Amino acid sequence: MEPKYIFVTGGVVSSLGKGIISSSLARLLLSRGFRVTIQKFDPYLNIDPGTLNPYEHGECYVTADGHEADLDLGHYERFTDIKTSKSNSITTGRIYQSVIDKERRGDYLGKTVQIIPHITDEIKRNIVMLGETGDFDFVITEIGGTVGDIESTPFLEAVRQLKWELGKRAVSLHLTYVPYLKAAKELKTKPTQHSVKQLQAIGIQPNILILRTEKEIPDAMREKVARFCNVPAEAVLQSVDASSIYHVPSMMHSQHLDELVLDLTGTEHRNEPDHNAWNKFLRLLDGARDEVSIGLVGKYVELQDAYKSINESLIQAAAYCGRKLNLVYINSEKVCGTDMCGMLSDLDGVIIAPGFGKRGIEGKLSAIRWCRENNIPTFGICLGMQCMVIEFARNVLGMPDANSTEMDPLTPDNVIDLMESQKGVTEKGGTMRLGAYDCRLAEGSTARKAYGAEMVRERHRHRYEFNSEYRTRFEDAGLRCVGENPETGLVEVVEIPALRWFVGTQYHPEYQSTVLHPNPLFMSFINAAIEHRERN
Ligand code: GLN
Repeated sequence: MEPKYIFVTGGVVSSLGKGIISSSLARLLLSRGFRVTIQKFDPYLNIDPGTLNPYEHGECYVTADGHEADLDLGHYERFTDIKTSKSNSITTGRIYQSVIDKERRGDYLGKTVQIIPHITDEIKRNIVMLGETGDFDFVITEIGGTVGDIESTPFLEAVRQLKWELGKRAVSLHLTYVPYLKAAKELKTKPTQHSVKQLQAIGIQPNILILRTEKEIPDAMREKVARFCNVPAEAVLQSVDASSIYHVPSMMHSQHLDELVLDLTGTEHRNEPDHNAWNKFLRLLDGARDEVSIGLVGKYVELQDAYKSINESLIQAAAYCGRKLNLVYINSEKVCGTDMCGMLSDLDGVIIAPGFGKRGIEGKLSAIRWCRENNIPTFGICLGMQCMVIEFARNVLGMPDANSTEMDPLTPDNVIDLMESQKGVTEKGGTMRLGAYDCRLAEGSTARKAYGAEMVRERHRHRYEFNSEYRTRFEDAGLRCVGENPETGLVEVVEIPALRWFVGTQYHPEYQSTVLHPNPLFMSFINAAIEHRERN
């Protein structure tokens, strides 16, 4: 079957959850046996979000092929188990770069290179690229930003042209917001009408409208929106605030979103969707009564999205362990020198977050020390693992000034040091050790037991590594290097076997945890946290 394209745009305000709607639709189509992929087009000029501060744009997600991508790709993978790649995340910066490269090469020789048609053609070429591989029945394309933004105009023009060219093979789904005015006790559809008008002015008639709302939208209001927006009433759906984003696929299915898309694209309704595994997860998630309390020590804790994949991995693992997750954010900049016991003693487990730079490091080190000395299940991820190594060097090996050369280039004990391959790298964008690499796990280690496998493959994003010159000193004192890259010997996992659960990974297991396949290390950590809770 020829690939069908679904374009997802957003109106009124940002953060309505286009990524969740796109992922939910993908989930539904996949459950019906179709081959689906999702891609995101972001209208900013950065080549990728790798150079963005998490305060600007939330977590930077990493694909298996080593692309630093928008965090929505994390949702795509968590909902669908699809492995995304560099082709699934495109920015204005990449589009312009490729057009300018072509101009320099002489590809447009003689022509004036312009936004229309050259930029829009490049966008179109990228939109259909995955579809043209023949690997997919449906390509869902999410356009970042909000309709009406100056910077999304070329993307919307490309969508308009593609809709025209593809005819029935293209569907436009527009997500808008219906605010509830408390004082007037009323839901208001005017912003939606305006947003659809803006889209129509660009030349795009949406086929499906999804109204984000905190209250149920009455039928009469749905019909009113339909009438004013030229969309049939049955294609005006609502997306009411849900207790979990993982309920959205079934909320969409109950309003026939998948059937609508099949009808609009003239696709045969193959099978009824199979939601068994997904629903089993939802039953566990909703049924959990007892809690498990996990602390997350990091410097971006004011911003929910900064540790998105870790949060979701914890929610998934907790649900599969029959627990409700109580996630406590601990600002690593504020914990140093404070009463660690007061802050951490009610927790069943502690995560030491990834990150970059010096800020908040001393707080992470004090938290690790307290957890190590009190035998609390502790999970260090990337910078968190590096901090576990530094803390152990300082307080167990008697190297008071041990550090990572990232924090102190002149440290006498560079237990964490710049990777050889990074020396001489000056460009910041896309130059870290990125993407999936193999890791061999030692017999008898907690990590090996958790995965039930000797070889695993997880994703990375770092420049610094454990300095192997110190390895025997660490191992003799009880911190073991239990995971390493089979080609380079780079230390990927450290553990203190004498403690209940004290594991640090140089890689980011959170990038590969999905609803249907929770990451084994997170499962093992949550199980240890539950045991710890029950012991107390
Ligand atoms: N800053 C550390 C490094 O570059 C850790 C990176 C991370 O936590 N993602 O090695």
